[in-house]
Amino acid sequence: MNFRSYPGKTFVIESSKAIIRNEQLEEQRYKVGDVIPEGKNVGDVKTIPQRTEVNVLDVKTDPGRHTYVLASGNGADQVFGWTAATNLEGGFKNETAGLSPGVWQLEPLGRNKTCIDADALIRDGAPNFTSRGTTIPIRSFVAVTETSSDGRFVKCSQMTIAQNAMEVGEEIGWTKASNLGDGCSDLFFAPTWTDKKGPNACWREGEYIGPKLLVNIIGFGAEMEQITLDSVEAYLEMKDAAEQDNIQISINSAFRTFARQAQLRHLFDIGQGNNAARPGFSNHQHGQAFDLNTRHNVFDGSDKVYEWLKRNGPRFGFVRTVSRESWHWELLPAEAKALAAAGKFKLPHVNDA
Ligand SMILES: [Zn+2]
Repeated sequence: MNFRSYPGKTFVIESSKAIIRNEQLEEQRYKVGDVIPEGKNVGDVKTIPQRTEVNVLDVKTDPGRHTYVLASGNGADQVFGWTAATNLEGGFKNETAGLSPGVWQLEPLGRNKTCIDADALIRDGAPNFTSRGTTIPIRSFVAVTETSSDGRFVKCSQMTIAQNAMEVGEEIGWTKASNLGDGCSDLFFAPTWTDKKGPNACWREGEYIGPKLLVNIIGFGAEMEQITLDSVEAYLEMKDAAEQDNIQISINSAFRTFARQAQLRHLFDIGQGNNAARPGFSNHQHGQAFDLNTRHNVFDGSDKVYEWLKRNGPRFGFVRTVSRESWHWELLPAEAKALAAAGKFKLPHVNDA
């Protein structure tokens, strides 16, 4: 699975001021001895000419989550340097830029998992999944060979990695699916990962529900956003379908860390921000909620993005769940299916009057 969407694509520099920056994102200037383009002088800021076609070799963000791309011309030998993603046509929106954590022994392929729970009991199979009283050692890499009909339990085997592929070994038995993280990474045990308020920590209704893999995706204004791995497919399918209708959907805010939610709540409490749930209680903290690029509460039919979402969101699992928040959509496949069948797009309690 490839979680970087930009390799091999061609992008166009749209800005006339596409400043070239170094690795530290500092502006670069022409020096004596440089090949200096016509109209430029020694000491001028270096820029990539407008309408240049570029490839993107790498992506990173500054502390404000603004995205920069390492741009090259035709052939990787002509590397321009780093430039703000907003300088590209379309703002580089909806490109995916890898997973968090970013370092893998083996990225998620669907079946390869890591035991992330110190008490991952080994169990017998259906119907009772009785505990055998032994556990899978934490940090073990395992291969899932079967899943229970309700998805709560998985049967797994020992697994080793050879030349970046899985080698499935002896059968272990059944265990709870929630004991296993997707993919094989030692970084699952980095302090930031295991911290309940760390970068991947998910919370629902005030309870810590464990870490989820996050996919980096470029949002509105080229800000780097995160969405959970389990929501990527639904979001990208919806975004692609909208594009077919000449509507561009993008993300203003999706997954939020505990710290980010606490910050938004603080701003609300002091009268400087939108309504925000208490940290631990937001549906933005477990992959369900997406704030999209609709205009704020424009219900008169003039907001094309909102009108498209009303007609099509439920087909892709997205529905409105909060009154007077036209931008806030949640991925609720079962509810969406029922609403779509009834020609509706919001949960019954949602009232915009
Ligand atoms: Zn929201």
